[in-house]
Amino acid sequence: MVGFPISRIVMRVLLALVCLTGGPAAHAQVGDVGLHIRPCVLRAAPGMDPATLLRQSGGFDCTTPQTDFGRGDFWVRSQPLDRIDTRSPHEIRVASLWQTRLTLYALYADGRIYRFSDDGRGATRHMQLGALIQHQTPPSPVPLVRLLWHVEGAANLRGILIGARVTDAYQAGQSTLRLGALYAGFVGLCLALLVYNLALWGALRYRFQLAYCAMVAALMGYAISSSGALAWMLPDMLNNDRLRINYLLLAISAASAVAFARSFFEEQVFSGWLRVASRIAMVAVLTPATLFALFAPHAIWALDKLYAVTFCGLIAIVIPILWRAWRMRSNYLWMFALGWAAPIALACVRILNNFHLIPWSFWLDNSTLVSMTIEALLSSVAIAYRIHLLSRERDEARIQEAAQRLLADTDPLTGLLNRRSFLREAIGRDGMHTLLVTDIDHFKRVNDTLGHDGGDEVLRLFARALRAAAPPGALVARLGGEEFAILTTEEAKLDANTVLARLRAQRMPFDLTVTASIGLCTGPLATEGHWKLLYGLADRALFDAKSDGRDRARARPGYSIAA
Ligand code: GH3
Ligand code: MG
Ligand code: MG
Repeated sequence: MVGFPISRIVMRVLLALVCLTGGPAAHAQVGDVGLHIRPCVLRAAPGMDPATLLRQSGGFDCTTPQTDFGRGDFWVRSQPLDRIDTRSPHEIRVASLWQTRLTLYALYADGRIYRFSDDGRGATRHMQLGALIQHQTPPSPVPLVRLLWHVEGAANLRGILIGARVTDAYQAGQSTLRLGALYAGFVGLCLALLVYNLALWGALRYRFQLAYCAMVAALMGYAISSSGALAWMLPDMLNNDRLRINYLLLAISAASAVAFARSFFEEQVFSGWLRVASRIAMVAVLTPATLFALFAPHAIWALDKLYAVTFCGLIAIVIPILWRAWRMRSNYLWMFALGWAAPIALACVRILNNFHLIPWSFWLDNSTLVSMTIEALLSSVAIAYRIHLLSRERDEARIQEAAQRLLADTDPLTGLLNRRSFLREAIGRDGMHTLLVTDIDHFKRVNDTLGHDGGDEVLRLFARALRAAAPPGALVARLGGEEFAILTTEEAKLDANTVLARLRAQRMPFDLTVTASIGLCTGPLATEGHWKLLYGLADRALFDAKSDGRDRARARPGYSIAA
């Protein structure tokens, strides 16, 4: 068969992955432990008797693939069991399939036959992790020699009776334990991813985070349902209903994976026809799953095949997505490709199995979890990377905004605060403040002597000297023209004569002597009214300095507001 070597390669890769999570010998100790049963099939007819069927030779078909028999009722018989010693308890395990009743007949060497019969609820109650229906043989002094199953209402989508094994109770217990660790690990991972992505969504509100959460939640549900753990939670559920849930949850996780890709990639990757095609693919994968969940076993074969075909559609759409992402130089192409390689390869193998091109295997059924673990983890790394890029964009925008703000707040000629930002910073301060207002003397003459550009240079040098003279923490501003201000707290003890000395010491172009007059006042600055009062008094003091001969400082007595 063409597909068989491929399945072996995929199987080896997956086993290697499982070994990574479960230890080097894990694959020999979970799920497919014990003696492998080679089933032979006979279509059931009225009047057939299990005792006769167990003992007769021939009559059963051991070569035709089971799926070729179609739907219906069947008898399935094991090979002779080489006298299995059942003095210690043994477990007989089969994979769970769509059927209405499964009856097991166990023949012992002394001719006794034990019978176990499970309807849909019985199957649920006897379910073990790995979705295996398990029965324990009662201890017997004589060995077990053959098994026979009566399968009623088999849909035969993957087979009539598959994955049948006889194992001792210890091995079966170990297998359940290890599978428990695997599933618990996966569910724990899903929960952690879900919680932290929801928390991130709460803070950042990116749509792809919600799609990712929907995907992880559906996968977690799928892991719980398909592993059989759901049967432990809901022991009265019909096993076929659990299978309906499997179909639905896998389809929801696939559709939300597409929704995630659509919102995760840059806008232009999913523009045009690809946006429409991906939406159609999502609806297409959900439709047969919903119909299966609602109406199976009606049209069960058609719905199952349609389900597989829609998954083909999903896989097909990955190619144009990757192509577009490559052409648009998407930042996320490689992470997406790496994360989805394993699930997509596995989905292909499962589709081949759906069309009976490769045989069913326990590992095929359970490897979804391993591949989705890889996907979920790499996607979370991709999300972290995307958030990193977004936060870098945000930081750049903030820096730009800060730069623009700085530009709007400063006086372009001198680099000091402008009047607007000075007032914003000054008004509303607690406590007493000293306001120093200074105005260059006869600046018109400076302009006349040096020209307007020379005047500008004098203003720049004057501003530099003023900043150097101001105490640390003071606000220094150009209020307009050749008028400047320094604002400090009262405790800073601003000394106007020191400022004057510093201004006089400033060398000017052509060694021009430039002086300034200063007006000072101290008062509160809690409101705009306070500012007007304080500025008015300082301005009057400046006027005094001008009229007293310039190049000097005058103060108006400080005032305070009565409590
Ligand atoms: P006083 O000692 O009484 O202050 O005399 P003054 O000449 O300094 O006062 P006045 O207010 O009459 O003149 C100020 C001059 O400052 C007038 C204006 O052309 C000049 N000026 C205002 N802004 C600028 C500027 O940005 N650059 C230059 N070069 N000159 C300016
Ligand atoms: Mg002046
Ligand atoms: Mg002036």
